[in-house]
Amino acid sequence: METGYQYRKRRVALDRSREFRFGEGKISAYASVALGLLCLLAVLAYRYPAYLTTIELRQAYDAEFLQQILKYGMYFSLFLGALTFVLNRHKRLGACGIGLTLAGFALGGYDIPVGPVEPVRMSLGVDWLILAFLGSVGVFMTLEKLFPKYRNQVILRSEWSLDLFYFCFNHLMISAILIYANFHASHFHWALSESVQVAVQSMPVWLQVVLIILCADFVLYWEHRLYHEVRWLWPVHAVHHSVEQMDWLAGSRGHFVQVFSERAMVMIPLYLLGADKAALDIYVTFAALQAVLIHSNVNLRFGPLKYLLVTPQFHHWHHSSEKPAIDTNYSAHTVIFDRIFKTYHMPDKHWPAEYGTTVRLPRGFVGQLFYPLRKWLQP
Ligand SMILES: [Zn+2]
Ligand SMILES: [Zn+2]
Repeated sequence: METGYQYRKRRVALDRSREFRFGEGKISAYASVALGLLCLLAVLAYRYPAYLTTIELRQAYDAEFLQQILKYGMYFSLFLGALTFVLNRHKRLGACGIGLTLAGFALGGYDIPVGPVEPVRMSLGVDWLILAFLGSVGVFMTLEKLFPKYRNQVILRSEWSLDLFYFCFNHLMISAILIYANFHASHFHWALSESVQVAVQSMPVWLQVVLIILCADFVLYWEHRLYHEVRWLWPVHAVHHSVEQMDWLAGSRGHFVQVFSERAMVMIPLYLLGADKAALDIYVTFAALQAVLIHSNVNLRFGPLKYLLVTPQFHHWHHSSEKPAIDTNYSAHTVIFDRIFKTYHMPDKHWPAEYGTTVRLPRGFVGQLFYPLRKWLQP
């Protein structure tokens, strides 16, 4: 750790115009549009399950039970839209929410018969998008309200819509990502060892989970470090680092090349270890939750766990543009490999004052999509 660096406190001014306050109709307006859109997407997913749902996920939920939730969601969205008219504020958004929900009703509503699904090779993860969005809003927005690091940071902070776009894109692509990751891992069949797999499967599930976390972390550490330290790889990863305000949505920002390659790399140890399904499920859930949590605007006390696991404070330092934090804290799950390979930066009580890249990136999706290409072609 660099000594003598003057750490500063981050200042976040409250932007009243972007704030959500009770009684103004803005909460019901936005909630009505979000819910109306989710309901419409859910209805479409029930109508065309082969093309709009994910095989892996379909096995994990009860589609008929979720239809009951959809029913309440549709009526609630109509209620919220109507509320904007009662409050006489943001009526245009309220009408939009009502319109989206009515379109959902027109397309079949909440009682489309659920049956066996004809599998197709590639589908859009609309079900994954809806469930992940509702879960993230429910868990992480609540944590950010209860234990905020920056109380003044609003939900609709700058570039929230860009990150929401990335969130949707990455979730819709889940099936393509998994197909690519499995295909990539299958190239390592020469390294498969039956005795290793038998040994792994003879372990208790908790030990298998620990083993998976360590192996995945090792791969993710080096993959991440190469993205930072190999000159021509950095422009791809720089997109993830272009966020300047951290919250639960910020971690979604990432160039598709990075998203695909990261999943493909982490699939190699999962494929070779051959752990039980239960252990894999626990790992995937843990990894998904941790990935969102570490970007969140939360200041939870982790006690001694912060010396073992990657926490929001640790990963926020990874996103800082301040000098001592540059090219540090690469780990995804535990801090072990940053400790071993001497890239650990965790100044006890301090948090970063600034986030982002030292050279500013384009601020739109298309600009960021072509940013690596532009950098590679630059003389
Ligand atoms: Zn990074
Ligand atoms: Zn990150």
